[in-house]
Amino acid sequence: MSDPHELKVLDPATEEIIATVPAATAEDVDAAVVRAGRAQTRWAALAPADRARLLRRFADTVDAHTEELAQLEVREAGHTVGNARWEAGNARDLLLYAAGGAERLLGSQIPAPGGWNVTFREPLGVIGVIAPWNFPMPIAAWGSFPALAAGNAVVLKPAETTPLTALRLAELALEAGLPEHVLQVLPGYGGTAGRALVDHPDVAKIVFTGSTRTGREVMERCARLVKPVTLELGGKSPNVVFADADLKAALDPFSFLDNAGQDCCARTRILVQESVLDEARAVLADALAAVVVGDPADEKTRMGPLISARQRDRVRSYVPEDAPALCGSAPDGPGFWFPPTVLTGERHDSPAAREEIFGPVAVLLPFTDEEDAVRLANDTPYGLSGSVWTRDVGRALRVSQAVRAGNLSVNSHSSVRYWTPFGGFKQSGLGRELGPDALTAFTETKNVFISTEGPAQ
Ligand code: NAD
Repeated sequence: MSDPHELKVLDPATEEIIATVPAATAEDVDAAVVRAGRAQTRWAALAPADRARLLRRFADTVDAHTEELAQLEVREAGHTVGNARWEAGNARDLLLYAAGGAERLLGSQIPAPGGWNVTFREPLGVIGVIAPWNFPMPIAAWGSFPALAAGNAVVLKPAETTPLTALRLAELALEAGLPEHVLQVLPGYGGTAGRALVDHPDVAKIVFTGSTRTGREVMERCARLVKPVTLELGGKSPNVVFADADLKAALDPFSFLDNAGQDCCARTRILVQESVLDEARAVLADALAAVVVGDPADEKTRMGPLISARQRDRVRSYVPEDAPALCGSAPDGPGFWFPPTVLTGERHDSPAAREEIFGPVAVLLPFTDEEDAVRLANDTPYGLSGSVWTRDVGRALRVSQAVRAGNLSVNSHSSVRYWTPFGGFKQSGLGRELGPDALTAFTETKNVFISTEGPAQ
């Protein structure tokens, strides 16, 4: 049984406890929201250029601590050190990008008879951000930094298993000169601290990233207060590989192994045109055998452990001993290891092919032609991301228009750039983060009509 008053943070590569952090209660959340409300009024009243200047200073402070933040992410989340450095850099870059937005929160002037009609973008107030454990630092940043730039205050609840980088970011914000209580981090359990944030009447919006199951509950609870919500949820994304594709590039196993597959954008349904299925199998077998799995702090490591014993058990439940599969290797001994795996004997409607496994496991499935590929790609309740591989430009355009997902890449496996919008169709979510409109998701539009008529005679 976990202690309701504290969180034990484990290093998933060694299973050692690396920190113990107090767990916030509902009363702690309430007090934080009250402090945030006061701080927000002053923060929103700052000149946009001053808010931007403070956020740029915050970015510089993050930059000066990149290595420290990266090492913390390696220890608490088991991310490879290369990935963790990218993640700290992503937080810094998003701060710089969002800072520019503070000065560009434009309204509009709309022609109206008898006066002037103008719109304003006003901050919402206090934003509750609830983050998962798979990308603790970037996801904390995506939910919080554009909100701050738009003049809101943020109360952030990181995941139970990974509170350390978020706590450090909040310290760095203070060090950079951000006013107290504008960015508060409250580690705690989802059922207490998370729920208290969702239910709090003075939290104006919830940004939730996590499982579709919890996201649905968050949305239902927000509905009672008519509270807006951004949801970034699960995925089961297709990698559609036509026979004319560059197979080695298309079947790069890091399309689903990055972060040990604990990535909502992982391309875990590898759909391959049947005429090249055998070749695809051979390419994948070689690629999986070459993946270096091990100590995430080692620069040569490409894949680290899973986050927890629970997650490893869950992943294992989709891979029976006798399942036909292509496999890489993983270390023995302490640590939550699982080998890179491609299941080759699944049907497209089997649980491993339909459910989000959230580990280094993909399924290989054949398709016949373009129509069949699109049908299979869309036969899922999710719609977060996906890739299309073909040298035929017309087909690339048709398929990327036909696949219902928020983030597609053609002849590439990339999904995330801080300057392009990110989010899901269908049960993968609601709303968008990042990109040029990131700040507007944290504002209300106010319309003001100013009469030019003189006073009534
Ligand atoms: P989770 O839903 O269990 O938890 C996410 C967060 O919600 C945690 O901070 C948790 O404490 C909190 N929480 C749990 N119950 C709550 C409740 N009743 N009320 C309020 N908060 C509550 O998800 P997880 O296992 O931490 O994360 C993995 C999931 O996140 C995967 O499904 C993955 O696809 C998804 N994810 C989505 C994106 C995206 O952008 N779409 C990005 C990363 C992860």
